[in-house]
Amino acid sequence: EHLTSQQAIDLENKYGAHNYHPLPVVLSRGEGVHVWDVEGKRYYDFLSAYSAVNQGHCHPKIIGALMDQAKTLTLTSRAFYNDMLGKYEQYASSVFGFDKLLPMNTGAEAVETALKICRRWAYQKKGIPEDQAQIVVCENNFHGRTTTIISFSNDPVARTDYGPYTEGFIKIAYDDLSALEKTLEANPHVAGFLVEPIQGEAGVYVPSEGYLKKAKALCEKYNVLFIADEVQTGIARTGKMLAVDHEEVKPDILILGKALSGGVYPVSAVLANDGIMEVITPGSHGSTFGGNPVAAAVAMAALEVVKEEGLAQNAQELGELFREELNKFIPTCDLVKLVRGKGLLNAIVINDSEDSSTAWDICMTLKENGLLAKPTHGNIIRFAPPLVMNREQLMDCVSIIIKTLRDFSK
Ligand code: PMP
Repeated sequence: EHLTSQQAIDLENKYGAHNYHPLPVVLSRGEGVHVWDVEGKRYYDFLSAYSAVNQGHCHPKIIGALMDQAKTLTLTSRAFYNDMLGKYEQYASSVFGFDKLLPMNTGAEAVETALKICRRWAYQKKGIPEDQAQIVVCENNFHGRTTTIISFSNDPVARTDYGPYTEGFIKIAYDDLSALEKTLEANPHVAGFLVEPIQGEAGVYVPSEGYLKKAKALCEKYNVLFIADEVQTGIARTGKMLAVDHEEVKPDILILGKALSGGVYPVSAVLANDGIMEVITPGSHGSTFGGNPVAAAVAMAALEVVKEEGLAQNAQELGELFREELNKFIPTCDLVKLVRGKGLLNAIVINDSEDSSTAWDICMTLKENGLLAKPTHGNIIRFAPPLVMNREQLMDCVSIIIKTLRDFSK
């Protein structure tokens, strides 16, 4: 029995609890840069499941790896070893240049894991007195939805009435080196600095050039771990394998998720060198599904696709083209203030900052015109298509976006 979009929406609303605030479109198929709704209408996907589907929908190589492994062995838990995990860990560690990888499932879980590693490191390696470790985080961060993570969120929608919250976080302004230096100088018990190389959910805020490099240098000076959350920015999204690569920064702890599996399967990871990762001793952390053979096979294929298809380079080139084309258009349109981003992680800011309904209405019209995007917050619309897009498709999308914005500003 095939449901209409409306029937599927009604069913989900009746039996499913809320989590996000979804755009009313019901998808039933995806291939490459496209998705189709249940009525058969085709759209360009300009969200990519929040930058998870970087390799394109249903990439044959990744799906092949999934199917082969799913027929062979799906889950052992880490009560036993499995013959895929070590191969994947070796490959991913060498791709990102770390000694070790700790496999988890979701982005938030990997962030939690990184925080745990950082705290243990603080007590066991840095000599911070018990229960005194502090982790510096940034205003307007987004790192996930667990209780510890929302403890240091600014977003009232994500945070209200979920207390009591976890202690041990100091929040400073993003892209503010003097705030970081003052905080590190004043607080000898800081163990880590957790940062998004570009703040995605906050509205695609790209920090000043040199920020990450200088922040890393400050962390070194004060013996504080630099923890990069590349869940959204990683895996070629910004035009390099990692967003920190733009400034040749090597984090002490790297957090990956989303596109690590091409959106095919929940796979996340924390990477670090031995001196840090060794604080995780047998039995001190774990997950039933983390590192399962399907996840390992899928992630390995997903990383190979990024390399084989040159997706970082493509994201770099198409991102420049996208911003160039929009920058030609923006001066002719009072509705849009600016476009910003790196690689294929971009956003436009709508002029009427008072009223967030405009951004939503624009996304509804983009949907009618065959392109799916979502406001991050208020008046900011993120554009993050799969990285397997070609030039012609990108220019087609640019015309859809420009036509929609032009109609709106009339
Ligand atoms: N960190 C960042 C930077 C993210 O953008 C997200 C998801 N938007 C997360 C963590 C959380 O990932 P997940 O939804 O898989 O828990």
